[in-house]
Amino acid sequence: MTVRTRFAPSPTGYLHVGGVRTALFSWLYARKHGGRFILRIEDTDRERSSMESVNAILEGMTWLGLEYDEGPFYQTNRFSRYREIIEQLLASNHAYLCYCTREELASMRAEQMARKEKPRYDGRCRERHSPREGVSPVVRFKSPLEGRVVIRDLVRGTVIFQNNELDDLVLARTDGTPTYNLTVVVDDMDMGITHVIRGDDHLNNTPRQSNIFYALGKEPPVYAHVPMILGPDRQRLSKRHGAVSVMNYREAGYLPEALLNYLVRLGWSHGDQEIFSVAEMIKLFDIEDVNQSASTFNSEKLLWLNQQYIKNSAPEHIAHHLSWHLGQLGIDPSKGPDLAAVVKAQQERSKTLLEMAHNSAPFYREFEAYEETAARKHLNASVLGPLRDLRERFKEAQSWVAPALHEIILATVESHHLKLGKLAQPLRVAIMGRPISPPIDVTLELMGQATTLARIDRALAWIDHRSNA
Ligand code: GLU
Repeated sequence: MTVRTRFAPSPTGYLHVGGVRTALFSWLYARKHGGRFILRIEDTDRERSSMESVNAILEGMTWLGLEYDEGPFYQTNRFSRYREIIEQLLASNHAYLCYCTREELASMRAEQMARKEKPRYDGRCRERHSPREGVSPVVRFKSPLEGRVVIRDLVRGTVIFQNNELDDLVLARTDGTPTYNLTVVVDDMDMGITHVIRGDDHLNNTPRQSNIFYALGKEPPVYAHVPMILGPDRQRLSKRHGAVSVMNYREAGYLPEALLNYLVRLGWSHGDQEIFSVAEMIKLFDIEDVNQSASTFNSEKLLWLNQQYIKNSAPEHIAHHLSWHLGQLGIDPSKGPDLAAVVKAQQERSKTLLEMAHNSAPFYREFEAYEETAARKHLNASVLGPLRDLRERFKEAQSWVAPALHEIILATVESHHLKLGKLAQPLRVAIMGRPISPPIDVTLELMGQATTLARIDRALAWIDHRSNA
């Protein structure tokens, strides 16, 4: 049997990190077993679905590298197939037309509540054989009245539901459009899905879906219901807790592999190992080892992982992601020093790519203004002499590489009887606009001779102007 898993998001908003986690688990499971991973867009709710949201899903999956082998399949393209199955269920007497009006359903509900019963449809149209004038019917599933559904869930173990707890769910609305439980079953069946890995908010749908499978003469797939991700207050992770959209993490400067690594570890572990390459995840991850209890999202840990990935990844790889961030800042990284070399200089000092992009921007474009406190502290008249001298020496430099530049700086501070920092910090502010940069010699090498001289000139003029003001 070839394993076939799917990710089936509804395009009604952004791609939520919780959704990504189930997508990741489904993807890993397929990859581990040499199977196929399918993307299905559950867009039957036309009012809430949007093209932007579909794009956010596709963009997120691409960014994360969760490539799908089949799809995306859109449920809105499959209405005729759903209709066919609904007709089949009606013909085989597994479904019936229900003519109850909204008012009737409401009073049924009120009576049940008054009797302290669980509100449910009582099946009164099961035996109705004639239409009701002026009422468009819905189609309901004839849920078995006795027996039970046994679900062997790879995460939760055996879960049993009594059929008398389930009422006759609607399969098609009055306008004929199919409902979620019907479309999911038809799709999982037609797409040959062997393992459904999804959030445990769907656990209660599973006995209903299983009964529809049985009514169609099919075995349901194997299920694995993954616990929810919680915020620090133990409530389901939502916007209130901060970023939940995958693209927010991209914008905030996370590497996709750091996010995947973080998500795979939520509710799953392998000894005390924290860092997993994607290849290791595929090898070591098993859905059966996922914890049953919900896990709490810890943004500090994610940040720590991101920093580890930034430190330890190949500069060329980081450069690829960093160039996107520079683009967001309106910077064209081809106009300036080699981006991988900049990354190499910055890797040790960045927790996020956003931070790295901000700190690297001065290599690619003139900064607007000096950071105020830094300029006040470091760019003053006392440094004019040494800085002018340094500029002359830089102008004469034979070779523009870090060790040679280091020597020049040392020689300058010596001849002015200064401590290194008394010249290096003003120089840094002059070159970068702020007192933070990679080692100053490396910074200068990356900046190049012409820009270095121009920025020293700018600082000299600025000090002159300020001291005369
Ligand atoms: N479309 C459903 C959702 O986004 C998922 C359906 C499923 O995985 O069965 O919650």
